Amino acid sequence: VTDWQGKHVTVAGLGVSGVPAARVLHARGAIVTVVNDGDDARAREQAAELEALGVTVRLGDGATLPEGTELIVTAPGWKPDKPLFQAARAAGIEIWGDVELAWRLRGPDAAPWLAVTGTNGKTTTVQMLASILKAAGLRTAAVGNIGVSLLDAVLGDEEYDVLAVELSSYQLHWAPSLRAHSAAVLNLAPDHLDWHGSMEAYAKDKGRIYEGNRVACVYNVADKLTEELVREADVEEGCRAVGFTLGTPGPSQLGVVDGILVDRAFVENRQKNAQELAEVSDVNPPAPHNIANALAAAALARAFGVPPTAVRDGLRNFTPDAHRIAHVADVDGVAYVDDSKATNTHAAEASLASYESIVWIAGGLAKGATFDELVAKSAKRLRGVVLIGADRALIRDALARHAPEVPVVDLDRTDTGAMLAAVQEARRLAVAGDTVLLAPACASMDMFANYNKRGDAFAQAVRELGA
Ligand code: ADP
Repeated sequence: VTDWQGKHVTVAGLGVSGVPAARVLHARGAIVTVVNDGDDARAREQAAELEALGVTVRLGDGATLPEGTELIVTAPGWKPDKPLFQAARAAGIEIWGDVELAWRLRGPDAAPWLAVTGTNGKTTTVQMLASILKAAGLRTAAVGNIGVSLLDAVLGDEEYDVLAVELSSYQLHWAPSLRAHSAAVLNLAPDHLDWHGSMEAYAKDKGRIYEGNRVACVYNVADKLTEELVREADVEEGCRAVGFTLGTPGPSQLGVVDGILVDRAFVENRQKNAQELAEVSDVNPPAPHNIANALAAAALARAFGVPPTAVRDGLRNFTPDAHRIAHVADVDGVAYVDDSKATNTHAAEASLASYESIVWIAGGLAKGATFDELVAKSAKRLRGVVLIGADRALIRDALARHAPEVPVVDLDRTDTGAMLAAVQEARRLAVAGDTVLLAPACASMDMFANYNKRGDAFAQAVRELGA
């Protein structure tokens, strides 16, 4: 679409993607109607803002397809089986997400996209990638699902040489024509299956990120599914499959040799068969899953032609966002670590694999997850466990099955004081050299507004211990 004048576009959903989408389309002469399920105070505020521009907004009615609709632009979270979309499909109307809209409006012209998806590690990896690209002197930003709208990035005043783009499975589902320069799928574990309908559908949506890649499809050697997705993708001629591994890298892979991150995929000097990039200790924190994130970021940067020194400098400059394996304090020789962002079992597993002797604080809203695999894999590292939150019985039962020797304190609390009590119990269980790790494997909303607040409560409780 190049001519928007007089085109009837329906924007599904207000919010971080819908409002900019409606503005942008209206400014290009489209006749925009926004439909939104809710009509709370925030929706009304956003609606008033758009209505002042001349956009029609229907609050409390996200199901009915407005008459004359020629295109739908949807918020990424809207489920594909919604009545609105069924009606659209029956009428042959295209449905785009905000990422697709950004791509169609100016995607390829604004800057090449280095794209990242995966069940866990996306935000960390795009931030590492942006840091590496900056160290190479490139104008760049971490955008997308990380909280910076792609529309704003692509249509804003700032000029970029390259973009580090985080994409969720939802965004990929609604972005049929996106073509990245290079892309990575970090890992795939069951998540959001209620939305996608099945693991196959989820994997297929993640795999979209590889379609049309020009230089490299980056996959996780330890996660066969990601490699399969590369094999199934339709890519540009000459585009390579590049693996990352925590072990010794094979040809066309990045990996680790004697504590050094090594690149065997993009080697400048033809006399050599490997290029040293950085030391493991340059990665912050140097936990196994995070080294994997660093290798994925390095692979994308190298695919874009970034030199080894910039990879090293970019990793050294990088500091992780709060609540992601954040070291809070040492008290009596015990380290207290906040990984409140470990909101699912796959993330918690990576987190628990980062320490040898752990007092684990876990629990919250399970979102339909099961804990047997997580507990079985982590059992030998557990000094003790403190359980909080609504669904803690699920974890307690898994512990009884797979780690019967490990002492468990079941706090049976979901009130705001529970975190302080949990930290006090954890202190009692821990001995010098241990790590007390908040890695809940659950969402936080039963006790806290979000995972940030949960992590803050943990840090506050630790400070009170030390005081
Ligand atoms: P996302 O953006 O995909 O949610 P984040 O970078 O915010 O990922 O990390 C979220 C959590 O997932 C971290 O706190 C950590 O527990 C875990 N994690 C990070 N990277 C990985 C990885 N590569 N594999 C498994 N778990 C990871």
